[in-house]
Amino acid sequence: MPDHIPGIHNYCDRWCERCTFASRCAVGESEGNLSPEEKDITNQAFWNKLAESFREAMVLIQKAADEYGIDLTITEEEKKEYHENEKRKRKKGREHPIGALSWNYAEAALQWLEDNAVKENLDGLLQRVTLGIQTEEAGIRQIKTIEECLSVIQWYVHFIHVKFMRALMGKMEDDGWEIENGFQRDYDGSAKVAMIAIDRSMQAWGLLYELMPDEEDTLLRLLAMLQKLKLLAETEFPDAQKFIRPGFDEM
Ligand code: SF4
Repeated sequence: MPDHIPGIHNYCDRWCERCTFASRCAVGESEGNLSPEEKDITNQAFWNKLAESFREAMVLIQKAADEYGIDLTITEEEKKEYHENEKRKRKKGREHPIGALSWNYAEAALQWLEDNAVKENLDGLLQRVTLGIQTEEAGIRQIKTIEECLSVIQWYVHFIHVKFMRALMGKMEDDGWEIENGFQRDYDGSAKVAMIAIDRSMQAWGLLYELMPDEEDTLLRLLAMLQKLKLLAETEFPDAQKFIRPGFDEM
């Protein structure tokens, strides 16, 4: 489609349902065109469609490779070297303060979500409505806000670590080519989306903090982890905020 924004899906959060650019994105649009069966990733129709698209893409890729004399095969030795290199970078990334803290944040957040604190708070809320301490309307509003916050937190809980790992690993292998050739650095784009995810998660935790005063200690700890992560990221990726994401930062 002519009004698709090229590359917009490379620096987004993949939350197509909430995306304000779905109609301008090839990925978002194809998602929208899928039948309910195709949307169900456990459904065979989805995998069949994926395999079919891939087969078509491979024919084009092979044709282009032949034209440019590019060998698409890879030797066992190259494969081994690649895996070892990736393993080394991943290990280094996990040991980096940003890699470690983003992982710890995900674990702590998931632990809190599993600890039934939310259920207990919702039960308390229902009880207040039943006893007439709180109106039904206010109770429903609060429940909806809590649900919204939880969906934001859950969406980004692993995303932050994954994007920071990508940014850290990208930085490790940066040879300056992108800047020398007038491009933005891909790792800055990854760091930027991770930082946006931090901001949104912090907003969601902040709202929960207001609605669940009994959870003050844990929620403050999670907020502090994210704040520290953000400060570390600003130091490690000082140019990330300058990265212009196709579509999102161009309006
Ligand atoms: S840009 Fe929007 S529609 Fe496209 S993949 Fe990302 S979230 Fe989905």
